Amino acid sequence: MSTKPFNAFAMAQTQFDKVAETLGLDQGTKDLLRHPMREYHFSLPVRMDDGTTTVFRGFRVQHNDARGPAKGGIRFHPQETADTVRALSMWMTWKCAVANLPLGGGKGGVICEPHNLSMPEQERICRAYVRQIARDVGPLRDVPAPDVMTSGQHMLWMLDEYEQIRGDHYPGVITGKPVGMGGSLGRTEATGYGVVFTVREALKESGVRPQDTVAAVQGFGNVAQYAIELYNQLGGTVVAVSCWDQEDQKPYTFRKKDGVDLGALRKITDRFGGINKEKAAELGYEQLPGEAWIEQDVDILFPCALENSITGDNVSNISKRVKLIAEGANGPTTPEADHVLHERGIFVIPDFLANAGGVTCSYLEQVQSNMNYFWEKDEVLGKLDLMMTSAFIGVSEMARKRKLYMRDAAYTIAIARVAQACKDRGWV
Ligand code: GLU
Repeated sequence: MSTKPFNAFAMAQTQFDKVAETLGLDQGTKDLLRHPMREYHFSLPVRMDDGTTTVFRGFRVQHNDARGPAKGGIRFHPQETADTVRALSMWMTWKCAVANLPLGGGKGGVICEPHNLSMPEQERICRAYVRQIARDVGPLRDVPAPDVMTSGQHMLWMLDEYEQIRGDHYPGVITGKPVGMGGSLGRTEATGYGVVFTVREALKESGVRPQDTVAAVQGFGNVAQYAIELYNQLGGTVVAVSCWDQEDQKPYTFRKKDGVDLGALRKITDRFGGINKEKAAELGYEQLPGEAWIEQDVDILFPCALENSITGDNVSNISKRVKLIAEGANGPTTPEADHVLHERGIFVIPDFLANAGGVTCSYLEQVQSNMNYFWEKDEVLGKLDLMMTSAFIGVSEMARKRKLYMRDAAYTIAIARVAQACKDRGWV
């Protein structure tokens, strides 16, 4: 991570302003879209296992719901801020629009460190969160989902609390629920697989076979693991993965030049994506500094951790060989670094396109929940593939025709769709 002060919301607004200008949006539309429509900040008093009370801060931000109910995850993270949640909610609006889902954008967060919380404590945070926000979320209003350090189990506790308050069943109030409890098969895999569906299409367009490519991955959480899984299935080789080490409070990169073994690494990884250093050494992994993932001699980089990862400070360390960057994380590249990637002609699949598989599968989960009829995994993943592929093709055609950088092409499509919805509703 860069040492420079970083504000995700300022970055999201900078990205928006650039494209809003070229789209010629009127002042009212610009003012509406560069800020969230609604936000909620609240305190969560939670009884800890030792009997004391800790007060956590929680946020839910609804950036825009012109195209449908707000949609987006809830993150648990010690460095969460209102501005990060604002940025992420804005990116959700663009993500749902570029994937052409009938949904708007929202995001939530709690400032907490799940590594230091027992599961019963996390359950009480989830329930306290819902008690604060129950009046402002709902299947037709705002639909949360899992995100950084939250899982299907957290979603189920939240669903249960919501249903206790309302007195009825509301399977559509939250997605990413466990399979068998209203969840969809394929939802766990969806974000990582979706990243690789877009990579597959990008490689196809440039006439490169996945089996002739080598990649490095930042992060080893849910998105990274399933991206590696499908990339390996297509024949690609991952030579390095990085992850956060909770004990040392810094990241490490684990490298194996003939390819990391996903199954073996998973066995020595905790539920937050932390790889055990000693066991990795026994398996023959080289242990390098956390930033080393970005310097590897590879064709593809998969930043699948957090925002602010490819920055003005480290972008020059990217090897000349890198031709493709697929942003599994939200907001991994700062505008300063993005400018360099653009100049260097690296093909970037921007975050809100590359990682739209999660929310697309959430949408498929909503559809199944509404029907109360659940599809086989292959059917879900087949639909997901079609939707991601068509979103990717839409953006890459726009980029080619108008000679735009991929991020700008994706923004152009997404912002135009949302602006049109606001206009059609008579808001602007
Ligand atoms: N948290 C995921 C994202 O950032 C998924 C959101 C959802 O499924 O609503 O896209």
